[in-house]
Amino acid sequence: MPNFIPVEKQTVLITGAAGYICSWIVKKFLEEGFSVRATVRDLEDLDKIQHLNDLKSTNEADLELFKADLLDDGSFDEPAKGCDILVHTASPFIVQNIKDSQKQLVLPAIEGTKNVLSAASKSDSLTRVVLTSSVAAITGDNCETGSGENGIFNESDWNTSSSEDYNPYQYSKTMAEKTAWKMAENSHWDLIVLNPGFVLGPSLSTRIDGASVDMMRSLLNGKYRLGVPDIYLAFVDVRDVAQAHFLAALDQNITGRNILVSHVGNTPMVAEVLRSEYGRTYPIPKNIIPKWLVKMTGFIFGLKRDYLERNVGHSFKIDNRKSLEEVGMTYRPVRDTILDHAEQLISMKLI
Ligand code: NAP
Repeated sequence: MPNFIPVEKQTVLITGAAGYICSWIVKKFLEEGFSVRATVRDLEDLDKIQHLNDLKSTNEADLELFKADLLDDGSFDEPAKGCDILVHTASPFIVQNIKDSQKQLVLPAIEGTKNVLSAASKSDSLTRVVLTSSVAAITGDNCETGSGENGIFNESDWNTSSSEDYNPYQYSKTMAEKTAWKMAENSHWDLIVLNPGFVLGPSLSTRIDGASVDMMRSLLNGKYRLGVPDIYLAFVDVRDVAQAHFLAALDQNITGRNILVSHVGNTPMVAEVLRSEYGRTYPIPKNIIPKWLVKMTGFIFGLKRDYLERNVGHSFKIDNRKSLEEVGMTYRPVRDTILDHAEQLISMKLI
């Protein structure tokens, strides 16, 4: 049974509000009657924030937008003042064609976490921080095995194989989460970490720059018409991830790290689900590209041979029981996640 803090109306500060996942988190808290303060990088960039403005006007929602940048020291201090809860989601999610991993990923993730959590520490009213980490902070490559029975990954595992030069996104998430745990040691707020797998599901905006949206579009728009590499991912629905953030913010029974995964499957599985509904209309891949060919051509997508060697064709197991038993999650079937995402992209004319 959830053990919610009995408070009339609470104020939550949410970072990275214009992003794919965070837009759903903002919507969820508004629907639950929270006063929401949401940070974005640019208040003038309507392409990025129009859907938040719409959310605000159509529902007369209690939503206030603030400008804040992860690398702008102190920029989260003002919005954090008087808040009860902080949800820190903002962090760059770039996995391909990375030119400067330190500048694009590691610095904003780590320094940003310090900046945001310092604001939490300056806000006396704040009792809980929910951090959006990732399965990337649990494991770096699919060929690895976890510490659980039969090599299953669980919340006690940490990614030890990623670095600034190899899988820098995974490294940025690992180091940002470690930074958060360190800062939580001497704080007046408690820290709950959520570790989602690869997130799919409909987007609330027309943005197409995020990695999740890009993957789904690429499967529908012919980028992979000749075939897809056999890469396993731990999937989870964006709406379920938002629900988990809401539960984690309030339920006193939820603790520590929490893996959020509904299903482990490979890219050909996603293509197969899409073909079953849209195979006649869109050039959805039918073939799996052999590993040797993926390794030869991976540079086109900015993917290293080492990464492809250690990930293509390797499945892995990950334990989502803590999220079911302690967080209280019930996950949508991955088929619904995939088809709802495709439907949103098609209906918004983004394919
Ligand atoms: P996204 O749409 O690209 O969102 C990333 C957000 O971070 C954006 O709102 C972006 O701001 C913000 N951001 C980046 N650099 C910033 C900076 N210097 N200052 C302020 N804000 C900055 O990606 P997403 O998929 O929703 O990811 C959101 C979070 O979930 C990230 O922490 C990511 O690591 C985590 N996550 C994602 C997945 C997934 O599969 N999508 C899985 C596990 C964890 P702008 O809106 O201005 O661009």
